[in-house]
Amino acid sequence: MSGQASGDLRRGLPQVERLARALAAELPAAPGWALRQAARAAVAQARRALEAGQPAPDFAALARVHALALARPRPAQVVNATGVVLHTNLGRAPLAPGAAQAAAQAAAHYSDVELELHSGGRGQRLAAIEALLCALSGARGALAVNNNAAALLLCLAGLARGREVVVSRGELVEIGGEFRVGEIAAQAGVRLVEVGATNRTHLRDYARAIGPHTGALLKVHRSNFEQRGFVAEAPLSDLARLARQARPRLPVVEDLGSGTLVDLRANGLPAESFAPARLTGGADLVCFSGDKLLGGPQAGLILVREAEVARRLRRHPLARALRLGKLPLAALDWTLRALAEGRSAELPVLAQLLAPAAQVAERAQALAARLAGGAGVAGAGFAVDVAETRAPAGGGSLPGFDLPSFAVRLRPAEADAGGGGAGRLAAALRRGRPPVIPRLAEGAVLLDARTLLPGDEERIAAALRAAIGRN
Ligand SMILES: *Cc1c(COP(=O)(O)O)cnc(C)c1O
Repeated sequence: MSGQASGDLRRGLPQVERLARALAAELPAAPGWALRQAARAAVAQARRALEAGQPAPDFAALARVHALALARPRPAQVVNATGVVLHTNLGRAPLAPGAAQAAAQAAAHYSDVELELHSGGRGQRLAAIEALLCALSGARGALAVNNNAAALLLCLAGLARGREVVVSRGELVEIGGEFRVGEIAAQAGVRLVEVGATNRTHLRDYARAIGPHTGALLKVHRSNFEQRGFVAEAPLSDLARLARQARPRLPVVEDLGSGTLVDLRANGLPAESFAPARLTGGADLVCFSGDKLLGGPQAGLILVREAEVARRLRRHPLARALRLGKLPLAALDWTLRALAEGRSAELPVLAQLLAPAAQVAERAQALAARLAGGAGVAGAGFAVDVAETRAPAGGGSLPGFDLPSFAVRLRPAEADAGGGGAGRLAAALRRGRPPVIPRLAEGAVLLDARTLLPGDEERIAAALRAAIGRN
């Protein structure tokens, strides 16, 4: 761009300071840093628009949106009325109140995170977690890192750096948020050898790929999609036999994605999600997320068949870079104790997944009656009833697995059909305090009862009253 043109462009832009002062008059409660930052962002956005030859936007309106967003603490509490138990955009697993308290305690006080109280010497940060994970799974070694992506990175780097790792083409998954197995492998310094076809991979495909440079066999759970039709994969037990026969013997690593430590197969959960069974089924290392099906804090859990392998991973330089903070550590400790002591019903994720349909229906009926009675919904032109829905376990956890559920349905009056009334109501609910996140379906707002936490009914009623006032 010539100097002349960019000068013209700048003349079209307001000054950051002037814009921030104008905003301050409009939003007296917003802190100064947020106003200046919002003004800066609005001017930058406007500059990009002008440079792209688009008409000048409404600076003041842009800056106001930025300022209001910046002035709110984040992340802040929202009500999950989507019916998606493990919602990636809503922070996946909510902690049990006890786990949240444990994290808050560790946060606000000094703690014995790395102190051995009986000897006064330096303590192992992960000692209790490892014991709990081993007790729950039968693994001989275990560790926990920052998240499951980190767990996979550490497993691959620790076991097979500079070597080849054999994986099925049907399992080269991309998880939301830019996680690709191939890219993690590259960062771990291993070369992926892709075998089979997208839809079918046989044991012989793995067998043919094993050579002098092979360091491990990798199995990855297809967490966010399903394959149906003409498909085949080599069972874990066959992979394990192949790996045991190789010379030298190869480890089988499984990225399970979403795993539990309590056996919920009888409750209809997919069999492969029970992590301990993957070890007995032949995997040497299994990694999975702490904040998916497990129902704990963000963490990457690694179960290891051999204690020595776990020790090696713990001493790996990456382990320090990927280590779990003391807040999630405390929450994980509480969560694993709850599981080990038979208190899994205290974990919100498991309570939601295991709630009988009749109980969810009852909750939806009660909420519908409350909203129809008190929130002025009918007067605002919405019909209230209860609809049968399906509640998916989660976007990136258990594809194709959903549960019968029930939702309060708010339908705009006939006159509004196709008029976007449901979308406007949903947007108004998102502006609630706390925001309520519903699902939209067939021109109606659905408030699914399966994912509501204790006290959410009150929050929904308040958000709805406010939304209808503004809608
Ligand atoms: C979710 C998932 C991951 C990433 O786990 P994070 O805890 O989000 O890092 C990796 N692999 C699979 C198969 C997953 O499902």
